[in-house]
Amino acid sequence: MGEEDHCSLCHHGEAVYMRRYSGERLCRRCFIKTFERRVARTISEYGMFRYDDRIAVAVSGGKDSLSLMDLLARIESLHPYSELAAITVDEGISEYRDEAVEIARTEARGRGVEHVVVSFKDQFGYTLDDMVAVLKERSFEAYPCTICGVLRRRSLNQAARELGADVIATAHTLDDVVQTYILNIMRGDLAKPWSGRAVKQFVPRVTPFRLSPEEEVAFYAYLKGVYLQTQACRYAPTSSRNLVRLFLNGFEAKHPGALFTALRSMEKMVLPEKRPTSTTCRICGEPSSREVCRACEILGAVSGEAGTTRSHEKPSAD
Ligand code: SF4
Ligand code: ZN
Repeated sequence: MGEEDHCSLCHHGEAVYMRRYSGERLCRRCFIKTFERRVARTISEYGMFRYDDRIAVAVSGGKDSLSLMDLLARIESLHPYSELAAITVDEGISEYRDEAVEIARTEARGRGVEHVVVSFKDQFGYTLDDMVAVLKERSFEAYPCTICGVLRRRSLNQAARELGADVIATAHTLDDVVQTYILNIMRGDLAKPWSGRAVKQFVPRVTPFRLSPEEEVAFYAYLKGVYLQTQACRYAPTSSRNLVRLFLNGFEAKHPGALFTALRSMEKMVLPEKRPTSTTCRICGEPSSREVCRACEILGAVSGEAGTTRSHEKPSAD
């Protein structure tokens, strides 16, 4: 092997991954070690967990969330006072989610992690597929990812509360976090996500992969033998997030490291925190800054009840 085939950290393993933004070539062992160290550093830098937290990890069944569950299960086993449970939200997206729910179930069982599955159908009376079809029939402009995002947040929060969780960990990567910042800016929502502890009925969220590029999370999942889903969500190409993702991917390919710079710049922007509101929705009683929350607005539009989303009020980007 030539010098360029060797790992730039340990100098003897065969390099299997090139970090373009740092110029490092890494062998399998050093990639896993540095990846896991960065996640541990992220957790401590942002003060994500307390030693006795009951953590609910959101597991969609995709590679990112399965990798996060795997990592958190190992970290949690070193902390005797903390607990880990997994929540899977089944939105009711035929084929795609059916496969993912089964994978999540198997992987949680294999790690001895308590696992609950909550479905849109049970909770709201409709699957996401049903809602999209009904809204289309009624000539509402249906944005599947917006509906999915609003109701999934609601489901996760309720399920986490029922599990007695102190915090929800989601597998959003560096790419996802930067995309969300940009989407929020484009729709005029300049508040930062709430980073404090639970307020009223609201369970705070943390993102241990926020400093890990999506490509590295995927490679980590591959090296760890995490089961990869074969189906993709059929609604993904319609989302506004997809447009932002394509732009950012192109930019990162041309300027390696741009995503880190963007995240750090955005974190430095002095923005107010989106403090969970102390008011509640008059229909469902969940925390909401509006009289009727977004989830009830969507469900009202689906069931055809008055006082709900009007067709000219386009839901915001997911
Ligand atoms: Fe939901 Fe959109 Fe993601 Fe599909 S792509 S799971 S509809 S947010
Ligand atoms: Zn409501």
